[in-house]
Amino acid sequence: MVNIVLFGPPGAGKGTQSKKIIAKYHLQHISTGEILRKAIAEKTPLGIKAQSYIDEGYYVPDEMAVDIIKHELEKYPQTEGFIFDGFPRTINQANQLQQILSKIGAKINVMISLETDEKVIVERLVQRYYESGRPDDQRPDIIKKRIAIYNSNTKIVKDYYKKKGKCESVCGIGEIDVIFDKICSIIERYK
Ligand code: ADP
Repeated sequence: MVNIVLFGPPGAGKGTQSKKIIAKYHLQHISTGEILRKAIAEKTPLGIKAQSYIDEGYYVPDEMAVDIIKHELEKYPQTEGFIFDGFPRTINQANQLQQILSKIGAKINVMISLETDEKVIVERLVQRYYESGRPDDQRPDIIKKRIAIYNSNTKIVKDYYKKKGKCESVCGIGEIDVIFDKICSIIERYK
């Protein structure tokens, strides 16, 4: 089993690269953001609880994100591995992920961190809104808040994996396929 955390700020390209990785390596993609957006669209109890946080650019509570992960892990017991996209976003989530995985005899093999700069990601999020209409990409003040929360709560999750010797950085600016090739060469080393 190979389990990968794909890491980076909003707009780093995690979703784009995840799609390519799962196609090539047959891994199961778990995007907490995608699951939450679907729940909101379907107005499920989870979606109703999550909406006010997401609309305002805040994270949902850790327990909510962790419950999603537990549920997804149970759904795919036979998979060759998981790609965690948008999770863990806090140190508490990272600790809980480690505990959950150890219970099934698994672990995170590597975190792949997509490096970008703030100007690029803001441009991408504005563009993404025009293409997909994602409500949390609509307002510049909400985008700024999400980036600020990323900087204060989530950036440190990279150090958490770095200390364990499990963090690999990839430049996330440039051609999608060039970035993908670099990601593949890392996965090849860990799988
Ligand atoms: P992005 O990283 O591009 O902002 P995502 O699709 O990963 O988008 O997440 C969208 C929103 O869902 C986040 O801004 C946050 O409110 C919520 N969310 C997603 N994953 C988590 C998580 N692990 N913990 C808390 N909130 C989350």
